[in-house]
Amino acid sequence: MPGGAKPQLAGWGGLSVPGRELRSERLEEVARGLPLTRGLGRSYGDSALPPPGVTAVAGSVRADRILALDPARARLRAEAGLSLRDLAWTLLPRGLFPPVVPGTQFVTLGGMVAADVHGKNHHVAGTIGRHVTGLRLLTAAGEIVDCSRERSPDLFRATIGGMGLTGHLLELELALDRIPSPWILQETRRVAHLDETLAALAESARDWPFTVCWLDALASGRALGRGVLIRGRWAEPGEAPGTPPRPLRGPAVPFRLPGFALNDLSVRLFNAVYRASFPARLRRSVVHPQKFFWPLDAVRHWNRIYGARGFTQFQCVLPESERPGAVRRFLAEAARRGGSSFLCVIKDCGAEGEGLLSFPRPGVSVALDLPMRRDTRALVEALADVVLAEGGRIYLAKDAFVRADQFRAMEPRLAAFARARDRWDPERRLRSAQSVRLLGDPA
Ligand SMILES: Cc1cc2nc3c(=O)[nH]c(=O)nc-3n(C[C@H](O)[C@H](O)[C@H](O)COP(=O)(O)OP(=O)(O)OC[C@H]3O[C@@H](n4cnc5c(N)ncnc54)[C@H](O)[C@@H]3O)c2cc1C
Repeated sequence: MPGGAKPQLAGWGGLSVPGRELRSERLEEVARGLPLTRGLGRSYGDSALPPPGVTAVAGSVRADRILALDPARARLRAEAGLSLRDLAWTLLPRGLFPPVVPGTQFVTLGGMVAADVHGKNHHVAGTIGRHVTGLRLLTAAGEIVDCSRERSPDLFRATIGGMGLTGHLLELELALDRIPSPWILQETRRVAHLDETLAALAESARDWPFTVCWLDALASGRALGRGVLIRGRWAEPGEAPGTPPRPLRGPAVPFRLPGFALNDLSVRLFNAVYRASFPARLRRSVVHPQKFFWPLDAVRHWNRIYGARGFTQFQCVLPESERPGAVRRFLAEAARRGGSSFLCVIKDCGAEGEGLLSFPRPGVSVALDLPMRRDTRALVEALADVVLAEGGRIYLAKDAFVRADQFRAMEPRLAAFARARDRWDPERRLRSAQSVRLLGDPA
């Protein structure tokens, strides 16, 4: 560690605390007695940071073996530290793929289950939890417990989306998707304003398994909600190139950029150039799966563009069909408060999953990257008030600043989650900086 600086544990947004990860191929040995296990640290806020005063957490990334892969039944059993990147590139040549993937491949399976991740296909496939058939955990009491929908279902449901607070996830079983080719057939076009964006998402959801819209978060007035529609499906063999895709490795941002590099002007310029790079009319093409599912991975360490102060992401889901106009009111409030965002992504969500704290519910999810400024906490609190008023909820994997009273008010399932924890960890040995902040766990 240069200059004797203390080792740090950080979230993807840059929030960090002194601490280190203990890693081993045998996760259960290092995790025993520790309050938390982390994966690849791609959660943005404080969910993978230890509670105050604790400086060691378990790291799962060395426990990354595929234990059984049955292509005939499309079933996988693997250790929780296996990365999505390694799994995806093992499955693609075999005509298989994980049924749900988030917007980066640099996550572990354990992190995916703990956050109950959703992907561009949430409207048809739900979250990853829907496809998990069994979990093996090291509980707070030091026991190794297998759970599923049939065995200890309370533990199973609390663990899916439970942000690591029910046990150290050691192994999991997953049902996989069969795919006709390893390439994606994609269609893109610009959308001019929010009504068109929401209509394009709803219309695309009828025929397309993967849909998402990128928004120009600085557009306001009549242009509020303008952006780009992206939809896709796996290409059929006759549509796909004859050669298989290879994993891509892009350039890296070498160091944290100075704070002034990212300001309203540069964000405005980026948004304008990015939008102009898409056609006004629908364009169809066959694309590499990595470019389709994980475009941000094209630049490694892209979070360094936010400089030393870092950033936070605010992601919420708003029940648009129950409260028409909720997304417009939210975006207008973000724009009014100067929440200039490099990246704003919206996506329609389907049915709520089984996980007791799982994020998605029917409605529209909005994710905004917000550079850290002096007023970021106040901005997040104001946005959380809008979410609360609209009957929505926030995504724990992204959060660092929402207040406990706000979270409790938007989360009626907390009592059921607490009951599962009372049974499996009454002393709250398993906890994180986030659970201390939001759930009132002991510091
Ligand atoms: C660029 C980018 C795009 C993203 N896109 C999406 C998206 O489209 N959809 C989506 O849902 N999410 C998305 N995310 C969020 C990401 O999928 C989640 O934060 C995920 O949990 C990260 O996995 P990880 O292995 O890095 O976990 P970490 O960040 O290390 O940990 C996240 C949580 O999981 C817990 N955890 C991890 N491993 C274990 C284990 N073995 N046992 C018990 N608990 C464990 C941790 O305690 C923590 O609470 C994105 C993140 C990034 C950086």
